[in-house]
Amino acid sequence: MIPYARQEIGQDDIDAVDRVLRSDWITQGPLIPKFEKAVAARCGAEHGVAVSSATAALHLVFSALNLGKGDRLWTSPNTFVATANSALYCGAEVDFVDIDPATLNMSVEALAFKLIRAEREGRLPKVVVPVHFGGCSCDMKAIHSLSKQYDFRVVEDAAHAIGGRYCGGEIGSCSYSDATVFSFHPVKMITTGEGGMVVTNNSDLAERINLHRSHGITRDESKMHGDSDGAWYYEQLELGFNYRLTDFQAALGLSQLSRLDQFLAKRLALANRYQSLLKDLPLTSQSIPSCNSSAWHLFVIKLSNTASRREVFDRLRDAGIGVNVHYIPVHLQPFYRAQGFKPGDYPEAERYYSAAITLPLYPALKESEQDYVVRQLVSILGEEK
Ligand SMILES: *Cc1c(COP(=O)(O)O)cnc(C)c1O
Repeated sequence: MIPYARQEIGQDDIDAVDRVLRSDWITQGPLIPKFEKAVAARCGAEHGVAVSSATAALHLVFSALNLGKGDRLWTSPNTFVATANSALYCGAEVDFVDIDPATLNMSVEALAFKLIRAEREGRLPKVVVPVHFGGCSCDMKAIHSLSKQYDFRVVEDAAHAIGGRYCGGEIGSCSYSDATVFSFHPVKMITTGEGGMVVTNNSDLAERINLHRSHGITRDESKMHGDSDGAWYYEQLELGFNYRLTDFQAALGLSQLSRLDQFLAKRLALANRYQSLLKDLPLTSQSIPSCNSSAWHLFVIKLSNTASRREVFDRLRDAGIGVNVHYIPVHLQPFYRAQGFKPGDYPEAERYYSAAITLPLYPALKESEQDYVVRQLVSILGEEK
């Protein structure tokens, strides 16, 4: 089976993890700050905080922004459930903003329209979370300017997007947001097994996330309420979690990060190749606005004939191609329907979902395998190239 995504682990990665496993530090140790500085430097942000997953990262940023009961968070329905769930962990309400059918990202027009109505009803969001679908940035300048007009915070869910660029800067520079979150799950751009990171230019926010990552405990005397009782002493200042990343995961992350440019180049070449090989078929792919270079985490196609999606999908799977679908609109999940969402709430996300198939794309995908995927698709769609 050719999978839709796959991690790329080399001998250097294995050696880096091996060295840490033989050292004194197994959990959070000296490689964590090194990994944090390397990721922050790579994307041009001032601070990085490494955590156990992007889900943990989202939860920590939202709670550090004091998102809580009575607050609202808006995101895209075309995302993984974790984006919305993390707001519910904080006791906030979740709502969605429909997507642009071309970029598959949150529609700025839909956002602007929804904000006008929310202001009238006194239901403005505290936080808006654009999701950079497939590694292509949302229109951050427009979202940032709306955030100033309506006074909400912006957190970028860049789980797909480390290495992507937007209008001359790296995704993660946080030029138009309060913080950006990355995922290091094996299907994503670089991996630590499980893992994630928050990057931000706000030092107070970084410090709070850092504190909450490890139970809300500090050993820094300058932050303590009282005097230290001795070298063993620590104080719990706030209610935190255990969301730490291990040092051997940070070793893997550093080693992977050193090959990010290589991964990006391969993904871009394969994505360009898909676009040219598929151009005469009755389907479209994600449009990448001119200001962007996508990290190409995903290559999705939208079939012109929605009615055939199920059959096309099944036949590709039968041919040994591990296609997938990203995403089932979050509001259609039974859990979210139970909160009052229903079919028809976000028609563009639903229309896209009904036509979508994710094709295999990862750095080690061979051109011959890609040719096989395209040949199967051509024959299934009954067209001659
Ligand atoms: C993968 C993913 C997450 C969650 O990442 P984990 O590291 O697995 O917790 C969140 N948002 C999006 C858009 C994702 O694709």
